[in-house]
Amino acid sequence: MAAAAGDPLGSPRGAAGRYPAGAHVSSTQDVIVVGAGVTGLALADRLRHAGLQVLVLEARDRVGGRLLSAADRSGAATLDLGASWCWPDEPRVQALVARLGLPMHEQHIVGDAMYQDASGTQRLAGNPIDGRALRFSSGAQSLAHALAARLDGSILLSSPVSSIRVVGGASVEVEHANGCAYARYAVVALPPALAVAQIDFDPPLPPALVTLASGTPVWMGAMTKVVAEYAAPFWREAGLAGAAMSHAGPLRELHDLCGPHGQPAAIFGFAPAEATMEPAAVIGQLVALFGEAAAAPLALHAQCWRAEQWTSPPAVERLANYATFGDPRYRQAIHSRVWLGSTETAPAHPGHIEGALESAAAIGDAITAAAG
Ligand SMILES: Cc1cc2nc3c(=O)[nH]c(=O)nc-3n(C[C@H](O)[C@H](O)[C@H](O)COP(=O)(O)OP(=O)(O)OC[C@H]3O[C@@H](n4cnc5c(N)ncnc54)[C@H](O)[C@@H]3O)c2cc1C
Repeated sequence: MAAAAGDPLGSPRGAAGRYPAGAHVSSTQDVIVVGAGVTGLALADRLRHAGLQVLVLEARDRVGGRLLSAADRSGAATLDLGASWCWPDEPRVQALVARLGLPMHEQHIVGDAMYQDASGTQRLAGNPIDGRALRFSSGAQSLAHALAARLDGSILLSSPVSSIRVVGGASVEVEHANGCAYARYAVVALPPALAVAQIDFDPPLPPALVTLASGTPVWMGAMTKVVAEYAAPFWREAGLAGAAMSHAGPLRELHDLCGPHGQPAAIFGFAPAEATMEPAAVIGQLVALFGEAAAAPLALHAQCWRAEQWTSPPAVERLANYATFGDPRYRQAIHSRVWLGSTETAPAHPGHIEGALESAAAIGDAITAAAG
């Protein structure tokens, strides 16, 4: 099974070199944002709009973090290997999508769902698994690309941050793979457990915050997402929704992942950390659920988020205390200069893209108020 690596679409909008990588950089900013996921990008956009100078330091050679869209076999469309949906009750993401002019389509939910356990498969009457949701027609990563395009020149790729030092109580020094950057404030826009595992803070973070952060799960960080790409959405012709719940595995929850009008045609499933991911077992399960036509996918794409060093700390699957999401301690500035912020820190919609936008808005407001 081919694992997706890097950014299968290349640089955002094909603009190779648009976001520099590898240059030694020493610069002074108002704010340094660590991480070009949707939290970091939306925050940087907001701060720039408020007239502040911002530098975004990103570890990977692409933007988007857990938004990752791979090219389909034709190269003309995309398949989401990270997030794929937003929901009608999420006002921030709806407003942002409208502002950026991103094409959206409805998640296909019509038809019967399937259920599977050790005794076999069962066709359900209707689809109790899916609710109404919206999909990014150009892939969820298009949201990150559109935000990044607005930040032209302010994003440094391939620049993992290793330390943040508050200097003299008035500024921060951020050390990254390609140099050092200085600013009045810094925001660490990555999952808190990853932030404390990767970055040295000087002075050290308060012990209670380290305990909180290191015990905060990474949303979907232990999952593998498998996408089976087909020539046509054959399951729809059989009256199936393409959705299934399974206690037999390896995939536990499956959904239709087709593009607009059924192309590209795909079904995806989530597999937990303990699942054995053999391609033959995945295809066997798809055949059991959706029929013989599922036996010949054009391609299987698998993205193991647990193995992604810029998403998940070691043993991420052991983090299970979701009550830590949105903890009020995440809203306090550390030494008046540094914030931790990601979808996991949001009081509302934590885990979702909407939560990342909540976080960006809250930290953006706090910084603009502090910056005067
Ligand atoms: C399989 C899967 C399915 C999902 N499905 C949905 C869905 O359908 N709908 C939904 O709303 N949400 C979904 N999510 C969650 C959604 O993707 C996240 O809420 C959102 O993308 C989080 O954004 P973020 O910016 O907070 O974090 P991230 O996307 O994790 O961004 C963190 C960024 O920091 C960078 N970074 C890490 N370490 C460093 C470092 N040391 N220095 C510099 N940069 C660093 C990373 O490379 C990354 O770009 C899903 C997630 C996954 C994995």
